[in-house]
Amino acid sequence: MTRKLVYAFHEGNADMRDILGGKGANLAEMTRAGLPVPPGFTISTEACRAFYAAGEQLPDDLMEQVDAAVSRLEEATGKKLGDPSNPLLVSVRSGSVFSMPGMMDTILNLGLNDRTAEGLARLTGNPRFAYDCYRRFIQMFSDVVLGVDHYHFERIIQQRKDQKSVSLDTELGADDWQVIIGEFKDLVQQEAGQSFPLDPKQQLRLAIIAVFSSWNNQRAKIYRKINRIPDDLGTAVNIQLMVFGNMGDDSGTGVAFTRNPSSGDREIYGEYLINAQGEDVVAGIRTPQPISELKEQMPDIYRQFEEISQLLERHYKDMQDIEFTVERGKLYILQTRSGKRTAQAAVKIAVHMVNEGIISKEEALLRIDPEQLDQMLHRRIDPAARLEVIANGLPASPGAASGKIVFEADDAEKLANEGEKVILVRPETTPEDIHGILAAQGILTSRGGMTSHAAVVARGMGKACICGCEQLKIDLRAKTVTVDGLTLRAGDLISIDGSTGRVIKGEVPLIDPELSEEFRELLSWADEVRVLRVRANADNPEDAAKARELGAEGIGLCRTEHMFMEASRVPIVQEMILADTQEEREAALAKLLPMQKEDFKGIFRAMDGLPVNIRLLDPPLHEFLPNMEDLLVDITRLQLTGGDGEELRKKEAQLKKVRALHEFNPMLGHRGCRLGMTHPEIYAMQVRAIFLAAAECVREGIRVEPEVMIPLVGHVNELRNMRELVVEIAGEVERETGVNVPYTVGTMIEVPRAALTAGQIAAEADFFSFGTNDLTQTTFGYSRDDAEGKFLHAYVENKVLPDNPFITLDPDGVGALVRMGVEQGRAVKPGLKTGICGEHGGEKKSIRFCHEAGLNYVSCSPFRVPLARLSAAQAAISGGNGG
Ligand code: PEP
Ligand code: MG
Repeated sequence: MTRKLVYAFHEGNADMRDILGGKGANLAEMTRAGLPVPPGFTISTEACRAFYAAGEQLPDDLMEQVDAAVSRLEEATGKKLGDPSNPLLVSVRSGSVFSMPGMMDTILNLGLNDRTAEGLARLTGNPRFAYDCYRRFIQMFSDVVLGVDHYHFERIIQQRKDQKSVSLDTELGADDWQVIIGEFKDLVQQEAGQSFPLDPKQQLRLAIIAVFSSWNNQRAKIYRKINRIPDDLGTAVNIQLMVFGNMGDDSGTGVAFTRNPSSGDREIYGEYLINAQGEDVVAGIRTPQPISELKEQMPDIYRQFEEISQLLERHYKDMQDIEFTVERGKLYILQTRSGKRTAQAAVKIAVHMVNEGIISKEEALLRIDPEQLDQMLHRRIDPAARLEVIANGLPASPGAASGKIVFEADDAEKLANEGEKVILVRPETTPEDIHGILAAQGILTSRGGMTSHAAVVARGMGKACICGCEQLKIDLRAKTVTVDGLTLRAGDLISIDGSTGRVIKGEVPLIDPELSEEFRELLSWADEVRVLRVRANADNPEDAAKARELGAEGIGLCRTEHMFMEASRVPIVQEMILADTQEEREAALAKLLPMQKEDFKGIFRAMDGLPVNIRLLDPPLHEFLPNMEDLLVDITRLQLTGGDGEELRKKEAQLKKVRALHEFNPMLGHRGCRLGMTHPEIYAMQVRAIFLAAAECVREGIRVEPEVMIPLVGHVNELRNMRELVVEIAGEVERETGVNVPYTVGTMIEVPRAALTAGQIAAEADFFSFGTNDLTQTTFGYSRDDAEGKFLHAYVENKVLPDNPFITLDPDGVGALVRMGVEQGRAVKPGLKTGICGEHGGEKKSIRFCHEAGLNYVSCSPFRVPLARLSAAQAAISGGNGG
């Protein structure tokens, strides 16, 4: 039996995505639902894989099946490929399993040649239309299949327009297009070294090969990499009867969403163009009209479209992005798929769909990508700021951004790599600009609509974007943009507000976002189902308050060294480190004590009633001293100039201490509890500050729950010693203040030995907090400060490692240690509280791991708290029981 590689639309269904690709499966499903879909067939992804397996050759059995499918299409439509009296014209489009908008190639009007074009002219009574289709086909086919660049053709068209002294394509007539077609063919001969293929069967064969090949073009590869789509899936090819949106003023084409993809509001949202082909809308070459105007222009069509969109939404249980064409007053649905949307819209739509009874709460929770929640936390322009608004465009993707103007994607990438913030300003973007979009803070285009490339890509990435800002006159060669007589150049500062479409001169003050009702509602559902608790890493009262507002249930890590690094305190910290005698050191610590105490009070107040985990000093002391090279330079300068003697002596003393503290591997050196062991007075001061602060807060009526955490423990004796110190000081403070503060003492598990001996360590610990940053560093033996800049990037690129282990917790190695730590620890102390406070605590895959490993909580930076709440809920819904 021969394998089936070609499926008519009515033979497929929505479950066949793997075989038919997303688009093919949708066309099949829509056909089954009885929607007005132009007929056609799909060549399977299996055929594409066979094509690559055969060294980029079409399998023989494929073309036989394609021929048979064409014959059936000819029967169904009464048209015939290559028949001038009633030509069958088809579109050929790629369609992979995952949506890759604009990434691969499409060919329209295939089947046209000199004779069928003439036939089409006769049939429609509209030669201008027929030759316009033909020239478009030659352009697209030559670009995609024969590799002749688009701009060559545009130049020929421009020459003709110049000759006729007209400025619009629509002002060219049938005769003009015929002349242009002749020139196009010469161009193809010259550029491609072959004549333009006139046999429709040959055209079809070449087009199929080109679509298969486009799976591996540069932009498709980049898109897959960014979106983590596997490279070996291959694409399907959809071949479908052409319907024409450019057959006059009773025809048109458009793209519409069943709900507003930007705000999530329940309204049909989109745009259309009268008398145009689909690519005019998608490419953003002409700026389309809002769909609300279709209601007046074609009321019946609009009503029918409304019905269909509701039907599709109920059918697919999701917001749809629909492409449609009207051919001489008849509506055709060309494709539908789940619409891309902003994070705001995603949340609003999911919550509304639960309230409308379309989906369950669990489905709503699973539907939101936790990473998308980040977008909702986007910054906006301070409303109090005075703005110099210089233009207005379409608000294509929310959030505000400021940066230097760049006009080319390459420049955007280059400057961003140098640490600059840039705004990419272009007439329009194409998939080739994707690296520039990725690098920029925001995108501003003068052309195109809400569904243009720039808009779709920016929304997906959560970047601020304004499109269709037609007041801007962009000169790419001169690298200037002019609006109302004001000229800005590359490098000038500009700001954009992607939520309103305002373009602003200069830099603007940005403020943090507030959260929508739907956002809170969704997260409250997440809180109902999740097992993991979510805390935040915060070391000052503001961050603590922010974290709490975002739903943190305590502080999982307060890095006290951040309190030492405040500019005004550094001299005192240095005094403490440079002290020669115990008294001098104690004097410096005595100055630091009230400062630390105030910090802790602020945090306890913000976290009233919630646990606050405070880690005693962790980094090596030299981090608080000036850098050795800088000191050497200063000293040499002072010596040479014979400058300030006092200053020179101070610097020399610093240098001596810096040299004494110098270590070859500071991350494996004198840090963490090793500092506490050798300088107990530092930890003693910190513990005293914690308990004094706690006692004062208790007196104010605040409920405090300090957890004192000892970092970098590798041997139980370290913890035993440090615990004794904490207990002793806590007792002293209690006797002095008369206030009893309930507290716990625990440890970080961040070196392998701690995990390996977790049973012993648990005997001395009330809690374990896995410091997965250091645990990753020490398990892999990768320096966390160097690896990412050196080899890790290449490791991830070459798939030596599936993910960057400093971002996504390595489940097999580091994860095994975490699991071991939890199991051994709980075996000794069943009630042992366990959490994670490395960066992984705010990353969705790692959070799933934590859920499965049975940890009690994750702790992450304040702005990632909502993401963690949702990820924890998703893990609970789709994963195991948790702990
Ligand atoms: C860790 O090591 O995971 C941790 C949270 O501590 P730090 O990043 O401060 O070393
Ligand atoms: Mg650490």
